[in-house]
Amino acid sequence: MSSQAWINLAYLAAAMLFIVAFKLMSGPRTAVRGNYLGAAGMAIALLAACFEQPVLETIAARGGWPLALVAVAGAIGAAIGAVMALKYPMTGMPQMVALLNGFGGAASTFVAGAELWNKTGDALAVDQAGGLTAVATRAAADLAPWTQFGIATALTGLIGAVTFWGSLVAFAKLEELPRFKQAWTNPNRHWINLGLALATLALIAGVCLNPSSNLLFWALVIVGSGLGCTLTLPIGGADMPVVICLLNSYSGLAAAAAGFVIDNSVLVIAGSLVGASGLILTAIMCQAMNRSLVGVLFGGLGTTTAANADDVYAGKIKSASAEEIAMVLENASRVVIVPGYGLAVAQAQHAVRELANALEKRGCTVEYAIHPVAGRMPGHMNVLLAEADIPYEKLREMDDINPTFPEADVAIVIGANDVVNPAARTDPKSPIAGMPILDVDKAKTVVVVKRSLSPGFAGIPNPLFAADNTLMYFADGKKAILDLTAALQQG
Ligand code: NDP
Repeated sequence: MSSQAWINLAYLAAAMLFIVAFKLMSGPRTAVRGNYLGAAGMAIALLAACFEQPVLETIAARGGWPLALVAVAGAIGAAIGAVMALKYPMTGMPQMVALLNGFGGAASTFVAGAELWNKTGDALAVDQAGGLTAVATRAAADLAPWTQFGIATALTGLIGAVTFWGSLVAFAKLEELPRFKQAWTNPNRHWINLGLALATLALIAGVCLNPSSNLLFWALVIVGSGLGCTLTLPIGGADMPVVICLLNSYSGLAAAAAGFVIDNSVLVIAGSLVGASGLILTAIMCQAMNRSLVGVLFGGLGTTTAANADDVYAGKIKSASAEEIAMVLENASRVVIVPGYGLAVAQAQHAVRELANALEKRGCTVEYAIHPVAGRMPGHMNVLLAEADIPYEKLREMDDINPTFPEADVAIVIGANDVVNPAARTDPKSPIAGMPILDVDKAKTVVVVKRSLSPGFAGIPNPLFAADNTLMYFADGKKAILDLTAALQQG
């Protein structure tokens, strides 16, 4: 068997590992195994790529140092990745995913740019004085218009640049950096986007017609970078999860296009898998938030106004102590716990498990209501509760648990805000109007645990806190739940 056949076989094995990894990652129990398999597939693909003919030719011509450079760069990248993964808290995971998407997009752009340079630019050599000189001009005329290479190079440059800059803006927004907190609402932004989109189309055509032009390629990358920023800047608050999924999909598409640039099948397969799964997740997220994709991407087409916090809360907030709430819980036979972002911030998952144990010992049924975008990433609450060994079968999805809230004696909302905001149902002008929410307001009694009346991610007041059947317990999530459990056990 030829060496290329072995390489293709290795790529096939890697592709199969990626597909099985995706399957395993769709369930919380098997997700970790899926991650390992995906990493093994990537290691096989990387190793096989080192034996590709152009790599061997380069080594034959220049010795082992280009490969050593790749190894050093890989080691530095791996070290940075490992430190980031260990250092970033769970609540910062979306920011980290945004950065990783962005780096993927940038890498694809540089692969396309390097390959274009390789095919068209001057070859460099070290001269006798130790400097670099151009020794030959490559056969630029060989690059005919509208070839696979030209089209793939243009698409990689564009999608990669949009992904990189879009992801940096998404990172800044999720990190709540001061200048990025507010959505960009310049009334001319749609015209600016239209202008950039038209310039992009013209440059794509330019690169496809004249694939030898490095200048046109980098002009396309610059305009694409602008588009990445101006498309992401207007998107705000509750729509951020959709954007992250979409950028994830873009990073896959950029990698797939880069695979066509360098004729690498495993890059095409891996990129397509990421692109397709990102798009599917985007569609699921849009459905979960009742947003149309067009509405998210061109955010602010309609006008929304949040109610004034003073009008919503003034004179209507009932604050309770741990002992008072424990008395309500003593008589409850069904309690639904609703976790949100604040639970992750407070790291209260183990305390919640203890409260549930104390309630169950008294014969009370305890369930958990999981909103698809509670927290800061899809599946955030599932992972958090799994850390505390809370059984999966007690976690109930929104559509499943919503009809049962009227039969719940108490709903305990811990650090959740937007996902339980009834304004989504009742106020058509609210920025989250139409977003499906957990109907906790229909429970007989609602206990909301949070530190203050501050808004959640969407930045809007929540009429639930002022409802007749709501008791507010103002404290850090973990401390509140520990105090509540102690009060219940004393009662
Ligand atoms: P929210 O962001 O709406 O609210 C979180 C609440 O937690 C805040 O009101 C805050 O109030 C409270 N909180 C913060 N720290 C603590 C603490 N230590 N103890 C107790 N409470 C605390 O969270 P939700 O989960 O309800 O909603 C998620 C939001 O994030 C949605 O708008 C969603 O669209 C968005 N989003 C979701 C993503 C996803 O994929 N899941 C990704 C990106 C955004 P206070 O400061 O008063 O304590």
